[in-house]
Amino acid sequence: MDAQAPDNASGPAATPRDPATGPAASGRTWSLRREWSRAFLLMLAALLIGAVVTIVGVRGLMDQVQETSGRLQLELEKVETLRSALDSHEQLGHQLLSSAPVDRSAFLRQQEEITRVFEDVAAVLPAETEVRETIAAARQSWEETLAEHGLWGSGVLSLRGSHVEETPALAASSAGIRSKLADIRRYSLAEMDKGLAHSAELERFLVVARSFLFVVAVGATVYFRRRMVKDLMRPVGSLHQGVRKLQAGNYNHRIEVFRRDELGELAEAFNGMAAAVHSSHETLTHRATHDPLTGLANRAALMERLTASFGAGSTRRNRNEGLLFIDIDDFKEVNDSLGHERGDALLIQLAARLKGCVRSDDVVARLGGDEFAIVVMDDDAGSVTAWIADRIHRALRAPFFVGDDRLTVTASMGAAQRRPETTDAAELLRQADFAMYLAKHGGKARFQLFDAEGYDHMTYRAALKRDLASAVPAGQLRLEYQPVADLNSGAILGVEALVRWEHPTLGLLAPSEFIPLAEETGDIDAVGCWVLDNASRQAASWRKSLPHCGDLWIAINLSTIQLPNPRNLVAITRILADPAAQAEKVVLEVTETALAGSTDGGIAALKALKETGVRVAIDDFGTGYSSLSSLAVLPADILKIDRSFLGRQSSEAQSAAMLEGILGLARMLSLDVIAEGVEEPGQLDLLRALDCPMGQGYFLARPGSAEAIETLLASGARLQPRPAALEQAVDS
Ligand code: C2E
Ligand code: CA
Ligand code: CA
Repeated sequence: MDAQAPDNASGPAATPRDPATGPAASGRTWSLRREWSRAFLLMLAALLIGAVVTIVGVRGLMDQVQETSGRLQLELEKVETLRSALDSHEQLGHQLLSSAPVDRSAFLRQQEEITRVFEDVAAVLPAETEVRETIAAARQSWEETLAEHGLWGSGVLSLRGSHVEETPALAASSAGIRSKLADIRRYSLAEMDKGLAHSAELERFLVVARSFLFVVAVGATVYFRRRMVKDLMRPVGSLHQGVRKLQAGNYNHRIEVFRRDELGELAEAFNGMAAAVHSSHETLTHRATHDPLTGLANRAALMERLTASFGAGSTRRNRNEGLLFIDIDDFKEVNDSLGHERGDALLIQLAARLKGCVRSDDVVARLGGDEFAIVVMDDDAGSVTAWIADRIHRALRAPFFVGDDRLTVTASMGAAQRRPETTDAAELLRQADFAMYLAKHGGKARFQLFDAEGYDHMTYRAALKRDLASAVPAGQLRLEYQPVADLNSGAILGVEALVRWEHPTLGLLAPSEFIPLAEETGDIDAVGCWVLDNASRQAASWRKSLPHCGDLWIAINLSTIQLPNPRNLVAITRILADPAAQAEKVVLEVTETALAGSTDGGIAALKALKETGVRVAIDDFGTGYSSLSSLAVLPADILKIDRSFLGRQSSEAQSAAMLEGILGLARMLSLDVIAEGVEEPGQLDLLRALDCPMGQGYFLARPGSAEAIETLLASGARLQPRPAALEQAVDS
């Protein structure tokens, strides 16, 4: 399990939820949607506040500046109006005092106007301030000054004469009033400065507030970015990784659930899905690799295991694998007599016992039916496999109880040890199977180790058997002929046809290499008929073409397997019945052993064949156990004495005695005799001394091709004739 470590303690530990129940919103403790809506709302609110603060602040600042400057402007304007009105009024006052002609009613109107202006100025100046008092004082001083000089109100109408001496006093008090007005102007300017200073303060506040809001916004951005990484990016990343791992076949991977929010639910759903995929994968794998009946590994799993150990990554240890092949003896009988259900019950018990006999890292598999195999981790000596086989034999001694039946079971076991030259798993299995086959055929309930030589022989034979079927149709058979001579004159009386097989890859094969196989497969029938047909026609052609060979007979070897088969017998009879074959000049050779072993129709068949006019020779005579009485009933015309009687292993004296006995017997039964295997002049002398009429062997003539034999026949040559006979022949 390689899930990521959680870095968020707020999320509960991941527990894969059953995908069938679906995402349960009730179990959700966090909501990304809610949180992020809130976050965005917060950001929006901060932006809004920032905007409002900016707008309001700037507006306030502007208002403040405008209001201050407006008010001061008004103040200054009014004061200025007042000042110029006072100046012109003072001018007129001076003229009145110096008794210059002045419109006195206009002077009075001007005075009233100035009084109003004073009120205006007082009205625009801020209440309860020093300047209000100053303006009031200025007004009062102005009124008193005018009244003092008789210039105030209706008093001006009664003013007569020149008061020029009073003008300096009027000018002085007027200057005092002007100075008061100048005070008010100064004050206003000072106020304006104060107002502007306040605006600067406000502006500073605004900058600070705006900066603060900016810092808050930056902080919030950083915070939400981190939250996004933690709550969104990391879970999404681990989800992505989980999907990749699942794709790569890592079904154990689970995603850590950081928080129970929407992504947490997705992660849980993923975990549920991964768990489901995992379990169905395991089920499928188990089904694909196990035998459903016994729960053991199946053939595919066994082969996979063996194949893997033959692969590039295999270690030295599994190079010493042994494979034990087990086949239950006579299991078919259990199935037939007790039924398949009980047979299955027995197999289950057997599987359990087999498992009890191995070590933990050995693999027991059922290959099918009643066949089992065990992969054994063996030592260098390969002794563990044999030890396990022995344990199994002992474990099977105790009876099995299936239903009411008590069964005793044995098994045939074969083992193959992996060697450097073993190419693959299939070969190892074949070898173990072959060893088991030998154990079974060696009498069952036994253990057999694989033997490479026996196996090679067996596979070679199997391959030859397969190829035999096509030998006749493909024209791969050849015939050689070996002359049989009159031992006295050396004349060639007959020839024996000997078959060879020109195998496409193995070359020329001698009959001993394939005739026994043909007898096993049944191909002997086709081979036999081919030989009979070809050899008899070849001999007939020689008889016809070579004038002195008119009586030449042809000997053909017959396998006794050919005789009991009625269809084959018909085929042989048809060939012999053909006048071209000249049946009376055909000799059928049958071995004594074969005839003695097959009394079932063999002799009857020979008798039937003799109807066509052929003669019968008992081949290899002396090697079987035919008694004199059995020899009497055989439909024989000729005895071919086996070459062992001329062999060097038996002493000459013994050989002579035996040969003499056989020759005497033949004479008694009126049988012709051919001595086989004449290889040396001494043997020929012995045979002549014993009066043996005919002989065959390398010393006389080796088997040869049709062309070679034809040349020999055409030459009229005699094979090792007696000097006396030669003289006779020359004389006549
Ligand atoms: P066979 O019938 O006893 O044939 C004689 C065998 O002895 C031949 O071997 C021959 O080459 C060999 N031979 C001949 N002279 C000598 C000798 O002086 N010394 C030794 N050591 N051997 C000699 P070949 O051709 O290999 O045949 C072996 C056997 O195969 C035959 O024994 C015969 O039983 C069987 N055979 C041959 N052709 C046929 C056939 O067409 N049909 C059947 N059923 N069997 C055949
Ligand atoms: Ca023969
Ligand atoms: Ca023979």
